[in-house]
Amino acid sequence: MSATDETFLDLALSRSRVDRLARVRTDDTELGAVLRREGTRVLELRGDTAAVLPSPTRLRLRAPRPDDADHQPWFLGRDDGLDYVAVTLDGGGAAPAPSDDEATWVGLREVGAELDDRDAGLLTAATALRAWHDRHRHCPRCGAPTEVLQGGWLRRCSQDGSQHHPRTDPAVIMAVTDPDDRLLLATGIPWPEGRLSVLAGFVEAGESLEAAVVREVEEEVGVRVESLTYRGNQPWPFPGSLMLAFRARTAQTRIVVQESELRSASWYTRDQLREGLAEGRYTLPSRVSIAHRLIEEWFGGPLPGHGPAVPR
Ligand SMILES: [Zn+2]
Repeated sequence: MSATDETFLDLALSRSRVDRLARVRTDDTELGAVLRREGTRVLELRGDTAAVLPSPTRLRLRAPRPDDADHQPWFLGRDDGLDYVAVTLDGGGAAPAPSDDEATWVGLREVGAELDDRDAGLLTAATALRAWHDRHRHCPRCGAPTEVLQGGWLRRCSQDGSQHHPRTDPAVIMAVTDPDDRLLLATGIPWPEGRLSVLAGFVEAGESLEAAVVREVEEEVGVRVESLTYRGNQPWPFPGSLMLAFRARTAQTRIVVQESELRSASWYTRDQLREGLAEGRYTLPSRVSIAHRLIEEWFGGPLPGHGPAVPR
């Protein structure tokens, strides 16, 4: 494999070209002007999906309409002189744009690796906001309803005035190798047999990233890792994670699977993985995931049957 000290800078969901322009969020006059501007582009969300057009794969964006302001649009930012906002169509939202084109409604997981940098960034931010709004309609302090402010980037309690910002939960994900450079791959409890991925887990309260890597690996497979190398990060808004990727090595090869967390786990050589993929016995996480990228890096190139993880 071609080892490198550089981190992953081109992960599918870490790409963005849009300037978030946070100052606009607190400027009601400017926010109103954004919604009246002919050039503003509106991204419609239905559930956790957006309308996507083919060849090239891109978001379907439309001009603003007078009723958009009634549906608490979220200000996503500005790029190349154009403003971008998102509106939700369900839950009493605006009516959808006419579907007289080839658009299909798909989620970020399915389409994230196919979109260009601008659209990938827009849909990642909108998907993350969507998940946060859906889960924070009430104040965590007193339970009263919260109201949406600042172009969708703040919720405020209607009773005690406390302010709540979109939250992100850090999670670590790690490619663990043994002294023979075999990769540790595991199958989660709810997964079908043959689906493999690297280990991952949430960072706990008051815990460093490195400590979380060591703890998770030890909990799940009873192996002590050392020599951690940070590889990169990308948002994973399903619903609100930030995935922080590491490589780690261990001198131990004996695995003790924690059966409450995993169905199975084992060490794999590159030949074993190549053959299993070619024969259809194994499936891997999708190209949009940082897990795929970690496995690809260890493998030394695109994984059989998957194409490159790096977006084109
Ligand atoms: Zn409250």
